[in-house]
Amino acid sequence: MQITRIASAEHEEVIRVEETATGLLGFIAIHSTALGPAAGGLRMRVYGDERAALDDVLRLSRGMTFKNAAAGLPLGGGKAVIVGDPAAKTPGMLRAFGRAIDGLAGRYWTAEDMGMAPEDMAVIRGVTPYVAGLADGPYASGDPSPVTARGIFQSIRTTAKHRFGSAVLTGRVVAVQGLGHVGWELAKLLRAGGAELIVADMDAMRAAQAGQCFGARVVAPDEILRVEADILAPCAIGGILNAATIPGLKVGAVCGGANNQLATAEDGAALRARGILYAPDYVVNAGGIINVATEILRIADRRAFVSEKLATLDATLDAILSEAARRGTGPETVADAIVAERIRTPDAA
Ligand code: NAD
Repeated sequence: MQITRIASAEHEEVIRVEETATGLLGFIAIHSTALGPAAGGLRMRVYGDERAALDDVLRLSRGMTFKNAAAGLPLGGGKAVIVGDPAAKTPGMLRAFGRAIDGLAGRYWTAEDMGMAPEDMAVIRGVTPYVAGLADGPYASGDPSPVTARGIFQSIRTTAKHRFGSAVLTGRVVAVQGLGHVGWELAKLLRAGGAELIVADMDAMRAAQAGQCFGARVVAPDEILRVEADILAPCAIGGILNAATIPGLKVGAVCGGANNQLATAEDGAALRARGILYAPDYVVNAGGIINVATEILRIADRRAFVSEKLATLDATLDAILSEAARRGTGPETVADAIVAERIRTPDAA
């Protein structure tokens, strides 16, 4: 196995991992360990070229630093990618990558991300202890999606408080884009909280099922970003808040679980210009990493830890939205500043 270090001005450590025998090519990026060991998932996907994979791991690991800090976790930010079609994955390849993770001696902890499954984490666990997202074991944290959904639900209440003057969701209309692991759980919580739902999913059966279970109005995927609602909760894919979609939005606020919802930094300003309050995605959706953190940090009382960290997340969002209103700036800008300060002064975090 060949490990090559790649210099990066912003990242603490970046390595390229290659093993000809198993066809492995991947990268591990540690953005920051200022608050604790770097944690973030391992993704496997096809990239146009090697540079695109490197750019992805650099961007995603930075995002994990911000997400972990926003949630008040004693964890830094890291990420790993394996280049290739997940269908071509082999145990030998995963074990080789696991040995590369092991070589970082706990400075980076991996977990499941796109293209990976709990079984793959178990293979990696065979060669290194620095892996979370296991299906069993004393600290196994299981599917993070319900905790992610809880975090989004409380964030929607807080966003409603700032945008409409009340956190009560009874009668509020929430449009949920995507009814997968996160969106479905969120829809359940919203319904129980009294909200009226409009939903869409690429999987028409899934959407119809949600229509039945939650008394939701079902619309086509290309309509969900144009419906009239109080809050839009994107829970499908990234980049959906962009120059093409923002002019058509008929909502007062956006608060959902999808990663990287703003296509560009300018799109935050465009939302503000339209009077739409944006709850920064990496703050809102940190429930998943809070859940994973119980495994990394070997937390005995998981329930108490998750509740405490979700409360921290909520207080952080509340502070971000208050400060953004006071300063007349975008919540995403305030979020970045608050989190950057936590990373600069770890002892105060
Ligand atoms: P998932 O794959 O289980 O669900 C995504 C759903 O969105 C699917 O049902 C899919 O059919 C639907 N979808 C895709 N494109 C769509 C479109 N254009 N319009 C409508 N529906 C569409 O994924 P998930 O685990 O629920 O995650 C959803 C989002 O939340 C992702 O962006 C993910 O990165 C992010 N996220 C998830 C977690 C977690 O705990 N699972 C944590 C943090 C962030």
